[in-house]
Amino acid sequence: MMHEALFYSKLDDQEINCHLCPADCQIEPEGAGDCRVRINRHGVLFSEAYGRLEAMNLDPIEKKPLYHFYPGEKILSVGTAGCNLHCSFCQNHPLSQCGVTDDGKDRHFFAPEDLVELAKQTAHNIGVAFTYNEPTVNYEFMLSTAVNARAVGLHTAMISNGYINSEPLNSLLGPIEAFNIDLKAFSSKFYRTYCKGKLDPVLKTIKQIAASSCHLELTSLIIPGLNDDLAEFEQLCRWIADETGRSTVLHLSRYFPGYRLKLDPTPADTLFRMYDLAKNFLHHVYLGNLFAGDHGDTFCPHCNAKLIERDRYRILPVGLDARGACKRCKTAVIKHYLHEYDHS
Ligand code: SF4
Repeated sequence: MMHEALFYSKLDDQEINCHLCPADCQIEPEGAGDCRVRINRHGVLFSEAYGRLEAMNLDPIEKKPLYHFYPGEKILSVGTAGCNLHCSFCQNHPLSQCGVTDDGKDRHFFAPEDLVELAKQTAHNIGVAFTYNEPTVNYEFMLSTAVNARAVGLHTAMISNGYINSEPLNSLLGPIEAFNIDLKAFSSKFYRTYCKGKLDPVLKTIKQIAASSCHLELTSLIIPGLNDDLAEFEQLCRWIADETGRSTVLHLSRYFPGYRLKLDPTPADTLFRMYDLAKNFLHHVYLGNLFAGDHGDTFCPHCNAKLIERDRYRILPVGLDARGACKRCKTAVIKHYLHEYDHS
């Protein structure tokens, strides 16, 4: 079922300008935008991926990654086709770099209310996460599902590249409670060369979310030789501390070769060095995609007590009280926490 898109204007009788994201596509009759899933049909822009879910799993919320948003819980995670960036190192390229009709596979259609009903009926599930591909390109479905989900008390999260314009993002703040935004590098050249996009709109998105009451975490995939320069990384950490605050959670993720970029995996030492540097600026830094020892644990920013021990996606809230505060010094750390759940 195709659904008329939001945020577009007509350039003339037939051509369309999509205003959803900074790609700012001008779409010819019967053509698609850069994301491949927003289609101009006779002068009307349609969201072709609306409700056409390509992937669905009940994932640990740590896998998103979200470490400070209901740690230890599970969330129904869904994705569709399409993305508005084209990263040569994409870890989800079979989904992100195709349109809905590219391979002719059967797909299940879900109306927003169907997905919310399924999420409600799924045991041990706290809500719905929009992830896997770039959820922005299926904006209308995500917004409608998120509004429905919040109305019945489910939680919502968006895992995104942050490539979205301010006005559409504004309507998501609230219906979507938690965001993990990729900050792929602190370099316009990196975004241009390896992602076919721009850095500045991503920074703007991060600031806009941080200024709202929504929960925000950031992720940087560290790729050897491309974005592991320590001087550039220090700028990234300083920017986060200055613009969104020292309590902003930063995940540093290990790169493995895939899609079009075939470099060696990031050396563990590189990640440990970057972790140490980031900790000079930020309270909560985590390493992912490698055995991280206590580099995946949560510590109290005030007294340095260990609050949460992590073994991959399993958590042990060793130093947290029932309100998500440090047992030792009572500093509030995890605002979103369901202490009554069994985390074993
Ligand atoms: S959402 Fe898709 S069609 Fe719209 S501007 Fe972005 S890439 Fe282009």
